[in-house]
Amino acid sequence: QAKDDGRRLYRIYDSQMDASAKAEKEIEMDLSRAIERNELSLHYQPQLDTIDNSVVGAEALARWNHPVKGLVPPYQFIPIAENCGEIIPIGQWIMETACRQAKEWQDKGLPPFRVCVNISAKQFHLSDFTQRVEDALTRSKLAPQWLELEITEGMVIADKDSIIPKLEKLSSLGVNLAIDDFGTGYSSLAYLKKFSVHQLKIDQSFIRDITEDHDDAAITDAVIRLGHSLGLTVVAEGVETEEHVQLLRQKGCDVLQGYHFSKPLPVEQFEDWIKAHNERLYS
Ligand code: C2E
Ligand code: MG
Ligand code: MG
Ligand code: MG
Repeated sequence: QAKDDGRRLYRIYDSQMDASAKAEKEIEMDLSRAIERNELSLHYQPQLDTIDNSVVGAEALARWNHPVKGLVPPYQFIPIAENCGEIIPIGQWIMETACRQAKEWQDKGLPPFRVCVNISAKQFHLSDFTQRVEDALTRSKLAPQWLELEITEGMVIADKDSIIPKLEKLSSLGVNLAIDDFGTGYSSLAYLKKFSVHQLKIDQSFIRDITEDHDDAAITDAVIRLGHSLGLTVVAEGVETEEHVQLLRQKGCDVLQGYHFSKPLPVEQFEDWIKAHNERLYS
C-alpha cells in the first residue's frame, strides 16, 4: 500500500518535472527564432544629470513579444537564453540595435546621449567580445563614446586576470563601462581601482527605502563617496519619488534613472518623451 503511494507520488513529481523542463525547452525553441521573427525589441529608459536635468543616457532594456504568451519580461527569458547559449546571438542583436538607434537619434538632431547596453556574463567572456563591440560600432557608425556597456560585479571578479586586459581594451576603444547593480555582488572594492570602469550604478534595492532606512542611506552615501574618490560617476537606479531625487541630489549622486522620470519606453514614445523633456528644459 505505502509502496504504491510512493510510486504514484513519484510519478506525479516526475511528470511535473517533465512539464517544466518541456516548457523551458519550448521557450528555448521559440527564442532561437525570436530574432528572425522580429519578436525582440528594445525599450529605452532615460538617465538624467542631477545638476541640470539634461538627458545623459538611455538604458536599452530587452523585450520579447511572444506570439502566444504576449510580452515576456527579461527576467523570464534572459536566464534561459543564458543557459542555452542563445544569449550570444540575442545579445549581439541587442548591442547592434542599440548602436544603430543611438546613431539614428543623433542623425535626427537630438542632443546626443549615451546608449547603455546590458551585457551578460556569457557574452562578455567570449574571447572575441571586444571585436564584436568594434563590429557593432563600425556597422552602426556610432562613435564609441556614445556606447556604454553595463556589466556586473560578479563578472569582473570571476577570472579577474583575463578580465582586466579586456576591460582595458574596451576602454581604449573609447567605450564606457559601468558596473550594474553595484552593492549586490561580491565586493570588488579592492579591485575597482584596477578596472578601467567609468561608472557605478547603485542597485535599486538600496534606493527604494533610502528615505526611511538608515542602512540603505549609509550604503548609498558610501558608494557615492567611493565612486567619486576613484574618479567614477555614480548613477542611482529605481528613482521613483521626488524625495528620492532630493536626497540623492543632496548626497551628490551624478545621474538618476527611474520611474519618477519615465518607465522604459518603446522607441517612438521615448522620442516623444525626450522632445517634451527638452522643450521644458531649454525653452
Ligand atoms: P537592470 O539592468 O538593473 O535594469 C533595471 C531594471 O529596473 C529594468 O527592469 C527597469 O525597467 C527597472 N526599473 C527602472 N526604473 C525603475 C523604478 O523606478 N522602479 C522599479 N521598481 N524598477 C525600475 P527590466 O527591464 O525588467 O530588466 C530587468 C533586468 O533584466 C535588467 O536589470 C537586466 O539585468 C536584465 N536585462 C534587461 N535587458 C537586458 C538585455 O538587453 N541584456 C541582458 N543581458 N540583460 C538584460
Ligand atoms: Mg542595467
Ligand atoms: Mg541595475
Ligand atoms: Mg537589476
